[in-house]
Amino acid sequence: MKKKKNPEKSGSVIIARQEHGISRKLMSPNALRVLYRLKDNGFVAYLVGGCVRDLLLGREPKDFDVVTNATPGEVKRMFRSCRLVGRRFRLAHIHFKEELIEVATFRSQASDEPEPEAVETRRGEQRQRLPHMLMDDEGMILRDNVFGTPEEDALRRDFTVNALAYDIADFSIIDFASGLADLGAGIIRTIGDPAVRFQEDPVRMLRAVRFAAQLGFTMAEETRKALVASADTIVRAAPPRLYDEMLKILLSGEGAKCCDLLRQTGLFAALFPAFSAWLDSESEGFPHTRFGEMLTCVDSRIQKGDKISPPLLLALLFGEYLDEKAENFRAKGAPWQQSIDAATAEFLGEVCPFVQITNRVGLALRDIIAQQTRLKLIPGRRPQAFIARNDFNDIIEYCRLIHGDKKDVAGRLEWWRAQAEQMEQEPLAPLSKRTEETGAPPRKKRRRRRRKQHGLHQSTK
Ligand code: ATP
Ligand code: MG
Repeated sequence: MKKKKNPEKSGSVIIARQEHGISRKLMSPNALRVLYRLKDNGFVAYLVGGCVRDLLLGREPKDFDVVTNATPGEVKRMFRSCRLVGRRFRLAHIHFKEELIEVATFRSQASDEPEPEAVETRRGEQRQRLPHMLMDDEGMILRDNVFGTPEEDALRRDFTVNALAYDIADFSIIDFASGLADLGAGIIRTIGDPAVRFQEDPVRMLRAVRFAAQLGFTMAEETRKALVASADTIVRAAPPRLYDEMLKILLSGEGAKCCDLLRQTGLFAALFPAFSAWLDSESEGFPHTRFGEMLTCVDSRIQKGDKISPPLLLALLFGEYLDEKAENFRAKGAPWQQSIDAATAEFLGEVCPFVQITNRVGLALRDIIAQQTRLKLIPGRRPQAFIARNDFNDIIEYCRLIHGDKKDVAGRLEWWRAQAEQMEQEPLAPLSKRTEETGAPPRKKRRRRRRKQHGLHQSTK
């Protein structure tokens, strides 16, 4: 691969079109449309980040990100389907039928920006303008929105392999931070001092782990050392962001490898202190193995292209822990359903201060565990209503993956599956007929109605 120093973009290296293997055929046609329109309107436009990295590695990119010197407002005027989003930094989202292309304006980190002066509002009040870049006392970036040069934009990115750009003007690749060398050697290395970069944004530590595992790379020695030294500070990141990043990790198809790395580096214990201690302990002389087994199982399903919902994922990984908690509540006298409610609440109380599982997912996780008993009753009460639940497939899948190798369980699941299939083929019969067919007790009338009937006439039944 021939490299040329770039006279305009200091410190960067250009790899001409004929010297690299990226073909436009491998790119999203929508991303190309966006790039061409920006270029035709006289703007600079690059593909950046993960998509360039993945195209060079021969992997299919997950999404295509574009950067440009057009401002968000200018981008909006160029695309009818454009929405401006983001409070921390304004981004343009260009919507296509089945794809979203994100367009960002070149940003600079501008960490030594002077305090902005006060401005006069239309009512004549003096108001301090918000600084473009805001850091907390410990150097974590809270807000950063200063337009910059292409090089500044590249250097504020996290890792060298994520700072490569593809220039639509001449189809060249611009390497701002020796990313190509690291890509060739399989190394994840922060741009700049890793301790500082992890301090600015602790989520980068989780990203380092994910990319190392997903791409089969190793971390540069300095990056790894700084990560281990900073692992405890991961909890300074916003809990909803940590939840999003943990989901990406666990659904990456390399969750087992990621979790090994998280545990080796101390990140796992920092994020899930109680669960991590439990995982390292034994119950009645037996180690807790389900978490590891389920990670492998989830990975193989993701690699096959299956989808796993977040509640099912959490149930599979934390189910054994929840079962044990519920068992403890039952030992103290709690009835079955209450023991599961209490176990889930306790688990969410431990995890959410750091990794904020959303309310909806928390409730859905509880339901998957709680509804397991219904699978044991054939046909049970109102089986069709049970099958019609939104989470029926997750309830079945959970049971199959946890206990599916047991003969009686497999037989029961087969029965439920057959019922679900039959129900899919036949539209629902009227309620009176349905209860006759399923053998379920007839549905009670709603109390309010019955009272009304009593009040008005004597019941005919
Ligand atoms: P993938 O989409 O495959 O998970 P990616 O590298 O594209 O990987 P995105 O989250 O889509 O990751 O981010 C796009 C790009 O934005 C990254 O490649 C990187 O250059 C930059 N980036 C994302 N998150 C950060 C961060 N926390 N700090 C600095 N740069 C970041
Ligand atoms: Mg991406």
